[in-house]
Amino acid sequence: MSHLIAVLPGDGIGPEITQQAVRVLEALGLPLTMETAPIGGAAYDAHGHPLPAQTLDLAKRSSAILFGAVGDWKYDSLARELRPEQAILGLRKELSLFANLRPAMLFPELANASSLKPEIVSGLDILILRELTGDIYFGQPRGLRTAGEGPFEGEREGFDTMRYAESEIRRIAKLGFEAAQKRNRKLCSVDKANVLETSQLWRDVVIEVSKDYPDVELSHMYVDNAAMQLVRAPREFDVIVTGNLFGDILSDEAAMLTGSIGMLPSASLNASSQGLYEPIHGSAPDIAGQNKANPLATILSAAMLLRYSLNEEAAAVRIENAVRKVLADGIRTGDIAEAGMQQVGTQEMGDAVLAAL
Ligand code: NAD
Repeated sequence: MSHLIAVLPGDGIGPEITQQAVRVLEALGLPLTMETAPIGGAAYDAHGHPLPAQTLDLAKRSSAILFGAVGDWKYDSLARELRPEQAILGLRKELSLFANLRPAMLFPELANASSLKPEIVSGLDILILRELTGDIYFGQPRGLRTAGEGPFEGEREGFDTMRYAESEIRRIAKLGFEAAQKRNRKLCSVDKANVLETSQLWRDVVIEVSKDYPDVELSHMYVDNAAMQLVRAPREFDVIVTGNLFGDILSDEAAMLTGSIGMLPSASLNASSQGLYEPIHGSAPDIAGQNKANPLATILSAAMLLRYSLNEEAAAVRIENAVRKVLADGIRTGDIAEAGMQQVGTQEMGDAVLAAL
């Protein structure tokens, strides 16, 4: 059976980098059908909407989406619902993509790119699972009001509600354990159970789910400690699972451990393992169309697509090993180049990965 992959290049460097990832996917000899559709600003220009009906339909029919990036300053004056970024929010909502997977992997060859000492981060390989559709970002009630009786009476007051239902915690916890089973079988659940009721429920439910995964070692950590441990001894972690707010912050912290934005892939999954795969960086309009962008984050996103949506672990590893070989050979795009290394463009980096495959 052939898998349908929706290829949504988007704006800026999006088309250049997805093109290289598509070449790599095509070279694997797997039964894949790839269909391309516009998204973001490109879709607005062509169809008057950042997520046109045909693109959404393709995304829904597909097993997985390979996404480039969206956005350009020239769309900043559009109404909010027509801005390119709305396309990602729309896809998340329409496909119920509730789990965000962000690996932070530092190839030993790039250890000098991190702001931390190489001996702390070299060989780093952690996966952060962030819940994407609940928590304080979506909880009701929320708003601005004038404070009532009490010490702040008459002042403007802002308030938000942190909340999770147990089914929401259970489904992300399950994914956390399953991801750990595909890796080193260690899952660290991050919460603030010493202070927050929502976190206490989070911890209780994660412990309940753990009974179905006796082969995974579960630990718990408060979010303040997790923030410290990520810079002190990040290699102690395997998979981290956490809520939307804590995950937002910790996943960016973890990304910076690696120091190279052009290298980091990500995935957003739903309950049926359908997923959207994209580099964590944006559309980089400053270098678009100049054959300068690093395509490796997108190529590594394609590897995640094979692993998490198509269950093609061997093919995913093949891609990752090819990237490793290219880096070991000293081939670099400008963003990760060091003195004395062979600097190449987007297209040539794609060629090098294909050759290494
Ligand atoms: P950005 O990530 O696009 O770029 C930040 C810096 O990193 C730039 O100097 C850029 O040249 C560089 N860079 C990014 N990716 C690179 C790559 N693959 N290779 C080499 N260099 C790379 O962030 P920004 O400049 O703040 O945002 C630009 C646009 O992207 C905005 O419109 C923003 O809204 C959008 N954006 C989109 C996404 C997304 O599609 N998921 C994410 C973030 C930002």
